[in-house]
Amino acid sequence: MDLIVARNRIDLVKARGQGSVALVPTMGALHEGHRSLIREARTRADQVVVSIFVNPLQFSPNEDFSRYPRTFDADLEACRDEGVAVVFAPTADDMYPLDRQVSVQSGEMGTIVEGAIRPGHFDGVLTVVLKLFNLVQPDVAIFGQKDAQQLAMIRRMVADLDLPIDIVGAPTVREPDGLALSSRNRYLSADERQIALALSAALRAGAAESVPSKIRAAALSVLDAAAPRLALDYLVLVDPATFSEVYESYRGEAVLAVAAKVGTTRLIDNVVLTLRPA
Ligand code: AMP
Repeated sequence: MDLIVARNRIDLVKARGQGSVALVPTMGALHEGHRSLIREARTRADQVVVSIFVNPLQFSPNEDFSRYPRTFDADLEACRDEGVAVVFAPTADDMYPLDRQVSVQSGEMGTIVEGAIRPGHFDGVLTVVLKLFNLVQPDVAIFGQKDAQQLAMIRRMVADLDLPIDIVGAPTVREPDGLALSSRNRYLSADERQIALALSAALRAGAAESVPSKIRAAALSVLDAAAPRLALDYLVLVDPATFSEVYESYRGEAVLAVAAKVGTTRLIDNVVLTLRPA
């Protein structure tokens, strides 16, 4: 079966097959991380739909919406390669008519950590994801652990709004030297790329410790050593479900998450840790 490119709801309805559907939402500029999500999706449903949509709603005016990489032809090739049935690539005008009124609010959880640096970002993410869910009507949707707070917020939306969709988180794909794959990595000069390695190195240093204060301190010392060329937005150790900071006595899974700018490129990364009783 050749890949179908659907531009709107009518195309999507026509493209719909018989069996179950897995959705992989993306903003395009597909890399090996996205491809791993697609492969995960293929194990979970009869038909995989990949959406490609650079969502204006999740960028603030001072962010990189207009220079976000767009590589549509290569993306279609990657989707063909991975056995995707349908690429859904709507236009912004179709998704957001000028008279639209109603959108999703991400609540308090949308205002902390990443949401504190990017006000309105998670409202934009949840609004587009809910629309994509309604348009594609998947049985399951796959999201990367790379965007850990996004994954947590989507799980929250599915729970709070009773959406009948299974949410699957997939592990972060990295370069051999630890750098998490990101569509934005292409903006890094060779020199900046070396500095950017401090993010994953900091997470590894944190992961080698076992109590919250030491985890944070070990990670911070790696990040400090890369300053001022690496400008830290945050380093947090949080509950994976709520993204609130964990206390010193916390036990169980926690996410050590970091965000920083290297030159003009903003990067995020995280690792999931298990804090065990001493
Ligand atoms: P985006 O890069 O924003 O288009 O992300 C589309 C999906 O790919 C999201 O669910 C991301 O979390 C996921 N993703 C991005 N980078 C990676 C990576 N390095 N490994 C695994 N998933 C990723």
